[in-house]
Amino acid sequence: MSIAENIQKIRAQIDQTAANCGKNPQNVALMAVSKFHPVEEIEQAVLAGQKLFGENRVQEACEKFPQLLEKYSDIELHMIGHLQRNKVKDIVKIASCIHSVDSVELIKEIEKQTAKIDKKMRIFLEIHTGEDTKSGFTSESDVEAAVEFAKDCPHIEICGLMTMAPLTEDAEIIKNSFLQVAALAQKLNQKYAVFANCSFSQLSMGMSGDFAYAIEAGSTVVRVGTAIFGERNYNK
Ligand SMILES: *Cc1c(COP(=O)(O)O)cnc(C)c1O
Repeated sequence: MSIAENIQKIRAQIDQTAANCGKNPQNVALMAVSKFHPVEEIEQAVLAGQKLFGENRVQEACEKFPQLLEKYSDIELHMIGHLQRNKVKDIVKIASCIHSVDSVELIKEIEKQTAKIDKKMRIFLEIHTGEDTKSGFTSESDVEAAVEFAKDCPHIEICGLMTMAPLTEDAEIIKNSFLQVAALAQKLNQKYAVFANCSFSQLSMGMSGDFAYAIEAGSTVVRVGTAIFGERNYNK
């Protein structure tokens, strides 16, 4: 199947899943995760109507996206992978949102670099729910400390929480990971929604293999790579 057909098929699955659990399909965005795939394939997705893209490595994003953003003014790039502080200044130039924020230090650096270029950055706070990755906040008090810091940053807007579910075949474990993050978002929303730049109404959850569970748990952005672009070739 072509990339265009894959996008159409995934979008239909998202709509069906949302409708089946009484949610508005329009509240679930589809992000095409284009890491390890070349500019030509991303262009096929753009021409099929895809607007939102995700990359997980700064260097690769900086090689591929400036030309695409120049050519197609209505597409958007989000950073979804673990971010080192010294790469922040490069990614803030091309990304409109960072999903993988997992420390106060990183928020500090994002504020500093966005202030320099007078840009507002949307962020998701990443919550660690799987054993396989090291990224993400592991305690609620650390998340709250990050929110306390971010609420005073004029160039930062928190829009929600992000997670990657554990790599397992066990559906219950995956569902639990998503539900746990959804519950935390609700709690944080009650506590921090009084601050103009803090909202926890969005949830970045779900990938090719588990986006249906994520939508059922309340995801508003699913990050789909393989099911759109095919398997990644890591040896390239
Ligand atoms: C690669 C990646 C995805 C997409 O994974 P697929 O299984 O290919 O859909 C989603 N989120 C993050 C953070 C990723 O790094």
